[in-house]
Amino acid sequence: MQDCGAGEKRIPEKREADNMDERLREQMKRIRHKVMVLSGKGGVGKSTVAANISVALALEGKAVGLLDVDFHGPSIPKLLNLEGPPPMTQGGKLAPAVYGENLKVVSLGFLLPEKDSAVIWRGPLKMGVIKQLLADVDWGDLDYLIIDFPPGTGDEPLSVAQLIPDSNGAVIVTTPQELSLSDVRKSIDFCRKVKVPVLGVIENMSGFVCPNCKTVIDIFKRGGGESMAQSMGVPFLGRIPIDPRIVEASDSGTPFVYHYSGTEAAVAFQPIIGMLLNLKEKTILPCLH
Ligand code: ADP
Repeated sequence: MQDCGAGEKRIPEKREADNMDERLREQMKRIRHKVMVLSGKGGVGKSTVAANISVALALEGKAVGLLDVDFHGPSIPKLLNLEGPPPMTQGGKLAPAVYGENLKVVSLGFLLPEKDSAVIWRGPLKMGVIKQLLADVDWGDLDYLIIDFPPGTGDEPLSVAQLIPDSNGAVIVTTPQELSLSDVRKSIDFCRKVKVPVLGVIENMSGFVCPNCKTVIDIFKRGGGESMAQSMGVPFLGRIPIDPRIVEASDSGTPFVYHYSGTEAAVAFQPIIGMLLNLKEKTILPCLH
């Protein structure tokens, strides 16, 4: 029988896949804590939380990586004012952008061809790209890798749940109104199904303090995230109020935990950072079967 040659092609491809798996394992071993930041809906402040958590941990002297795998609307470059040329390769690895002293950042926003172009990706392709960003970016030794996702429970968090089975878990961001909460319940259910621990729920945009009369106005209601967390049996990590300075800080690429460190919103971050600083390292026991 004549050989069609397909076998020959498949063997190098398989070897490359095995090599990438090996690189992924080696890289992930050098990262002590891996934390996913999820939300049920878009626009609830998930990327703002991911960016500010990363900056706050870096300010604590931790070596932090921030990976933005939002294929359809990567906002981390804008939030940290890091728009620039795509990362360069160094010794076969992709060099992340560096923010301040301790924060390494990689966003799909650095890699996508044009800022305003729509990208259509199929699930397996997304998983391949995410795997490469975990395996082939020069993350080095990190205390934390924070991963920012698109909203919902699609291919991106599923891929990371499979690629990093020892992640510490997910922080889930919501706003207080029922429309957002019903989707967060799905995010919690997703985490349970893929065995990602829920580190807790953050209620963002929770109440607005009028700067003039100091009256609290509950624009998106208040307290819904906390009661939902209680009823779903997951930790509640705190409320971040609406603060127009957060919008201003986001738009100018200056993280509010640093630039407005005395505000109620920045102070509300402290217990969340405290929880992350106290995370135990996770190890995966080898399978004996
Ligand atoms: P997501 O990642 O969930 O889509 P973003 O983090 O991009 O949401 O935030 C959406 C918008 O809401 C941004 O303009 C951001 O500045 C703003 N924002 C987030 N949290 C707050 C808050 N607590 N107060 C005021 N504006 C906020």
